[in-house]
Amino acid sequence: MAKEIGEEYIVKIQKEVTDKCERCKDMCVGDGIVVIDYFCPICKAKFWELYKIARLRIPVGFIGKTIEDKSVMQRANNYIANFSPGFNLLIKGRSGLGKTLLATLILRQLTGEYRNGDFFAVANYINYRQNLYDDGVEDLEEIASNTDLLVLDDLGSEHGALDSEGQAAYVMSRLSLLLKSRFDNKKTTIITTNLDAINLKRRYGDAVCSVLASYAVINMTGEINYRERVAKDLNSKLEGGVSK
Ligand SMILES: [Zn+2]
Repeated sequence: MAKEIGEEYIVKIQKEVTDKCERCKDMCVGDGIVVIDYFCPICKAKFWELYKIARLRIPVGFIGKTIEDKSVMQRANNYIANFSPGFNLLIKGRSGLGKTLLATLILRQLTGEYRNGDFFAVANYINYRQNLYDDGVEDLEEIASNTDLLVLDDLGSEHGALDSEGQAAYVMSRLSLLLKSRFDNKKTTIITTNLDAINLKRRYGDAVCSVLASYAVINMTGEINYRERVAKDLNSKLEGGVSK
């Protein structure tokens, strides 16, 4: 279900992982997965982590980041500890608080040998759906329906891409079918959104909202804005600060 990773990308991950390791550096010869077995334990672990992230389609910008809000992390850890298929989760809060990061951390923890998963930005999923003659459409639809743990990131962000009432109605019905079928089949869905209950209802109607009403909720209300922090780090570099 998860994304297949091509040889070219495997070589890229190998290079990234072994670049600073004297022992493994020269093993990057593009021989595919076999060479990984001979990496030192540190490089080996790093390689498989990056490989997993790529398979889950998690954007690379979320690698190596952590959530600092302890109460949010506690709730996320409780979710992970008590997880069972069909334990759906809605992560709410305004932009920049780390909702997507939290969803990717949970996705990484809960997937592996026995459970697959995928990460889709809702806006992209909707765009693919609209492009009905694209070869990739059916695949994406099938993945979204069948993957064990699906993160649908930033529900509501697709709205700007819709240019008519008809499209909005179409999106609503697709989304409603997807969420309902996942619910009925005990496939787990984690959704992030910055819409509040009123706007969720206004935009997606009763069908979607009645499914969402069955989800557990993590509300992110903290003060730490991760995007502002990235800008702050970059700006301090412009001023000659120490780079990381
Ligand atoms: Zn190494």
